[in-house]
Amino acid sequence: MEKMKNPVDVYTPGSRHMVGDGFPVRNIFPSHDLTEAISPFLLLDYAGPAEFSPTDRPRGVGEHPHRGFETVTIVYQGKVAHRDSAGNAGTIGPGDVQWMTAASGVVHEELHEQAWAKDGGTLQMIQLWVNLPKALKMGAPRYQTVLNDDIPQSNLGGDGGVIRVIAGEYEGLKGPAKTFTPVHLFDLRLQAGHQAELNLPVGFNTGLFVLSGVLVLNGSQKVGEAEMALCDPQGTQVHLEATEEAMVLVLSGEPIHEPVARMGPFVMNTEEELVQAVNDYRAGRMGHLD
Ligand code: MN
Repeated sequence: MEKMKNPVDVYTPGSRHMVGDGFPVRNIFPSHDLTEAISPFLLLDYAGPAEFSPTDRPRGVGEHPHRGFETVTIVYQGKVAHRDSAGNAGTIGPGDVQWMTAASGVVHEELHEQAWAKDGGTLQMIQLWVNLPKALKMGAPRYQTVLNDDIPQSNLGGDGGVIRVIAGEYEGLKGPAKTFTPVHLFDLRLQAGHQAELNLPVGFNTGLFVLSGVLVLNGSQKVGEAEMALCDPQGTQVHLEATEEAMVLVLSGEPIHEPVARMGPFVMNTEEELVQAVNDYRAGRMGHLD
């Protein structure tokens, strides 16, 4: 008998704030201090959906550093441009994902794409931070653009839903994003009145974040817009029913059992390493944008 991965709690946004002048976000964690319970994930910001008026000066976040983890940006509506000190640059639009490994350190900017900003429109996006184990925190930065067309998908719950596998694997379907520790990341849509089963590994921490619509999990737990259900890591099976057409991000990963020291854009294991990160950034050792 499969053990149900019963949700242990449902979290509403713990903070609403602007990131730079381009990303009005609702944050689920770390504004809720889930730490061990959601490891290896460190942050979930849901930006928008929000309307932006036309402008010649793209909004967003200017030059800033990261060290010790990965930033994963998933665009649902709008276009976002990125440029970093490792020499990587790219634009992602609806259905695309950018998986940036900051590791030992990059400096980057994240802006609305110029032509898109000129027209204005609706932006809807998620940024997720994924931790790196100690042995990889000071490794080389890496950058992956995962385009919509390269993300495999299959039906979910008959023809009432779709699951897109960004990273990890679902029933033989493998996601194109490379990860350093085992992570499953799925973009899931389920039409109103339809049901589906998800099977996830025992011991993985799993969050089901609802971007829009309403889900009922395991027959009883309701999860609405901008809410995240945290599931029991000892279970394997989640039963989903959409009572309103739902868009869901499923994040599931093997926990990293190491101390977490964090300060703004740096996530390390100790306070000393945070001080080192600040010093390295100030000394220009994370590079600069051209
Ligand atoms: Mn950033």
